[in-house]
Amino acid sequence: MTDKPIAPSAEPKITCAVCRHEVPLSAAFTPEGAEYVEHFCGLECYQAFVAEAKRREAAGKA
Ligand SMILES: [Zn+2]
Repeated sequence: MTDKPIAPSAEPKITCAVCRHEVPLSAAFTPEGAEYVEHFCGLECYQAFVAEAKRREAAGKA
């Protein structure tokens, strides 16, 4: 069942978890071994995501 036809030349793309930009998977920043299973367009968005996650965590504990 494949309802997403992918052209042979088309790279798989991911959506940045922070800014929602689509970037090729090969260009995406994906932290390995991290507790967050997300993709990011770059380190900046990853850091923003982590900062936000920590903030939420801190808020949840308070
Ligand atoms: Zn981004």
